[in-house]
Order: sequence, then structure tokens, then C-alpha cells
Amino acid sequence: MSDTASGTVGAFARAVAFATEAHRGQVRKGADADPYISHPLAVVSILADEAQITDWVTLCGAVLHDTIEDTGTSYDDLETAFGTDVANLVAEVSDDKRLPKQVRKQRQIERAAHASSRAKLVKLADKIANLRDIAGRPPATWTRKRKQEYFDWSKKVVDAIRGTNRMLEDAFDATLARRAQLT
Ligand code: ZN
Repeated sequence: MSDTASGTVGAFARAVAFATEAHRGQVRKGADADPYISHPLAVVSILADEAQITDWVTLCGAVLHDTIEDTGTSYDDLETAFGTDVANLVAEVSDDKRLPKQVRKQRQIERAAHASSRAKLVKLADKIANLRDIAGRPPATWTRKRKQEYFDWSKKVVDAIRGTNRMLEDAFDATLARRAQLT
């Protein structure tokens, strides 16, 4: 455990508080309309509890992973608060929202293979969390076809980064198998 700005449990606690504040008022698309922060916390839990990832930069990046993409947070905000490594990691897993959705989705597939190992871990856990939500508590308006397409696209992203972490890939595949039960 290093003593850098992002290398302590104190920094991780700050990251949780920062993300909670940044996502304040946002809700998940699922039928239960959970507070948005439940999603980055689920991603952290998958990394820390299920895959025993202990790298603080990865865990801080995971809890902050949607702050650039979905809130008013900038790269500079993250760099100031958590250091360059965390800011770079979050930037790496952020889609460019100025691009059309289909382009963004295609870019995720193309770029996944070239991502850093930390970014690959966050992406894997993010895809697991999202598929679990869609299988278990789907958005009320989503048709079965839309859910299946989301599963298929997620598989393409994960297929590009296989060989990163066995536990996470197994957890992803177990979740992917729920595609057959989607309604
Ligand atoms: Zn996410």
C-alpha cells in the first residue's frame, strides 16, 4: 500500500464521499430507481469482495468511474483531489458523451483491448454490475430484445479483454448465462 494521494483507505473514503455528492439526485434506470451511487459501490464490491483487488487506485477509480461521464466532474477536479493515476483511470473508462450512442458503444469494443490493466478491471466489474441489474431489476420500459442486445454488446467488450482476471471473467460469464432467462 503506497502513501500517494490515492493510496490510502482515507483517500478511498474521500472518493466514496466525492462520488456520492457528484451523483446526488441521480437514480439508476432500473425499476427500483435506486440512488445512482449504489452502482459504483456495487462495482467496488465486485472488485474488492469477489476478486480480492486491493489496489487503491483501482478501487478509487471504480467508485469514481462514472463521475466524468455522468456528472459535472472534470479530469482536473479528480486530479486535484485524488492524483493523476486515479484521474487517468476514470478518464480511460469514460465515454465521450458528445458522440452518438452507437459510436460510443462501438468505440468501447474497439478500445477495450488497448486499455490499461486497471481500466480493464473496472470495465469488467462495471459490465458485471450492469448485467446483474438488467437481469435482476431491469428498467421497466426495456423490452426483452433491448436487454438481450445489451448483454450481447457487453460480451463483445469483455471478449476483447479476456485474460485480465479469471475471477471477474467467471463472474461475468455466470451473469451472461442469465441472458436465456430474460423476459
Ligand atoms: Zn458504470
